[in-house]
Amino acid sequence: MQSSNTAKSGSSQEPGRESQPPQSMQTAQHETSAALPEPHHVELWRRLCIALLEDIRREQYETWFRPTAVRSLDQNRLSIAVQNGFSRDWLQEYYLETVVNTVEKVLGRRLEVEFVVDPECAAAGERETPAPSAETEAPSPPEAAPSKAPPALLPSSDVTLNPRYRFDGFVVGPCNRFAYAACQGVAEKPSQAYNPLFVHGSVGLGKTHLLQSLCYHLLQHTPETRILYLSCETFVNHFIGALENGSIDRFRSKYRDVDMLVVDDIHLLANKERTQEEFFHTFNSLHTRGKQLVLSSDCPPLEIPTLHARLVSRFKWGLVTELDPPCYETRLAILRRKSREQGHEIPDDVARFLADRIDTNIRELEGAVTKLLGFCVLSQKKITLESVRQCLRELFTVRKGLPSIEDIMKIVADRFGVKQAELQSRRRTQAIAYPRQIGMYLARQITRMSLEEIGGHFGGRDHSTVLYGVQKIARLTKQDARTLTHVTELSLELRAHDPESP
Ligand code: ADP
Ligand code: MG
Repeated sequence: MQSSNTAKSGSSQEPGRESQPPQSMQTAQHETSAALPEPHHVELWRRLCIALLEDIRREQYETWFRPTAVRSLDQNRLSIAVQNGFSRDWLQEYYLETVVNTVEKVLGRRLEVEFVVDPECAAAGERETPAPSAETEAPSPPEAAPSKAPPALLPSSDVTLNPRYRFDGFVVGPCNRFAYAACQGVAEKPSQAYNPLFVHGSVGLGKTHLLQSLCYHLLQHTPETRILYLSCETFVNHFIGALENGSIDRFRSKYRDVDMLVVDDIHLLANKERTQEEFFHTFNSLHTRGKQLVLSSDCPPLEIPTLHARLVSRFKWGLVTELDPPCYETRLAILRRKSREQGHEIPDDVARFLADRIDTNIRELEGAVTKLLGFCVLSQKKITLESVRQCLRELFTVRKGLPSIEDIMKIVADRFGVKQAELQSRRRTQAIAYPRQIGMYLARQITRMSLEEIGGHFGGRDHSTVLYGVQKIARLTKQDARTLTHVTELSLELRAHDPESP
């Protein structure tokens, strides 16, 4: 396991711009001169870059990753050619973790990643690596032909629209037809069709995909629409920040001066009384002025823990629509679509085999396709049932392998000889606090939970306590060999815990 917890988004960590190089900046030097990239490396790097673009901004990609190539690859190490020492140091300092994680996502295993100055190889990569944007960008409809800038959310939004999240890339089946139509309805006629629109369904079923498609569609037709798109976590953080700085008026005008407010994962308002109250006023202010609200959640309004009744009732004013897990046929269609998007056709028997086995979550179906194609490129094998079987182990650790927070608590409690209840207690002695923070760190690394959710499992702690614990352990793994050993061993143990392999 990597020691730092900066992997969540390499992008936001970049402190400053090109004018402030890392301290170790050196003059460009050829470290070695190697052969040009091999063709299957070119394909591999192209795929990695497409995946990277999900975590970093396009400008960052253009600046740092376009002029790069895979220089060599073996079982343990991926070596990436870069143009000069400056790029090497910068990438090393700010993007290493993101690249390592992307490699793991695409290839299904963690490799050591190094950046090596090799301008010839890097330049060859630049020529041969197609810009991922060109490939993943959905075609513009004819009426938008003279379009200038691509449609954009208000800059204070906390995402940019992902080009993969478009209506035409969404596979429609009985499980999601209604939600899909509702989102299209709002995109066509905001503030008229349904207000608010509330989309719920469990993780990985396409909520974010639909919300972003809605925004994109609307902006394509009426680019001047002021859409603020936020995760609930950001709303909460901004609100707390505004309270602390006494800038609540500015906060309010920012949230209320929009045509459409989209809040993804609104269930995270659970247990946050003051933020709920603020959101209630934001909601009213927008709704009475006929502004559109779009919300997503992992459960229906009534099931959001401690959500105030007046918010529950408001969330139900418009349309509440649910995404169900996909049926077999939809899973097949998604598998085909996803592999085609990545430039490959998968044979029918392979698609059926996967659709049979991965039956819960679309993100995992997608992950399986990505890994399978990555595996075939890497090992230069054809996509056959045989090759699927070979990489099955890895595929299915994705499927069932994510240890739950309960697994983490149990393993941590056993390891340190404390009770699980003590991890959740208020006690702050080092003998309890340290294992608790290790548990939080592992939960953050291994599960997809937010800081709040993790805090909830560790005795109702708030997100800043969890963040503090996670950061502390991340720091200790760099300074203290014992902590590094604890974290490494526990995470190996958790992953070994993996269920039956097929
Ligand atoms: P959620 O927000 O519900 O957790 P996402 O919208 O992030 O889920 O979807 C997870 C992944 O699955 C995304 O990459 C998304 O593009 C893909 N996905 C989900 N539903 C569909 C669908 N019906 N068709 C195609 N891709 C889908
Ligand atoms: Mg989502």
